[in-house]
Amino acid sequence: MHELSVMQGILEVVLRHAANNGVSGVEAVNLQVGSLSHLREEWMQKYFHHLAAGTVAEGAVLRVQRVPAVICCRECGRKYEWQARTGPSCPSCASERGDLVSGREYTVASLEAV
Ligand SMILES: [Zn+2]
Repeated sequence: MHELSVMQGILEVVLRHAANNGVSGVEAVNLQVGSLSHLREEWMQKYFHHLAAGTVAEGAVLRVQRVPAVICCRECGRKYEWQARTGPSCPSCASERGDLVSGREYTVASLEAV
């Protein structure tokens, strides 16, 4: 299951950070999630709770911050934020051809220890 493997990866990062910093309990995880991710916050929290049981991150709250998707224009190379409601359209040359640079990623920005 995709959601579960994503959250498993996030938990591994959290546990590694916690171990490296000698943290004995994690209260909150600040997570940056690309705006094109289809994972809903309530499901992320639910899976995280399930996976984190018995670890130092047990009971931690996920604080999800959405970060914009970035497109790199194939015509002129300009990078710009993709506004999902309008679709890709380069502000420099108006090309609609571009490659996704970011927008689907999950990044652990920081942890808050108990
Ligand atoms: Zn362009």
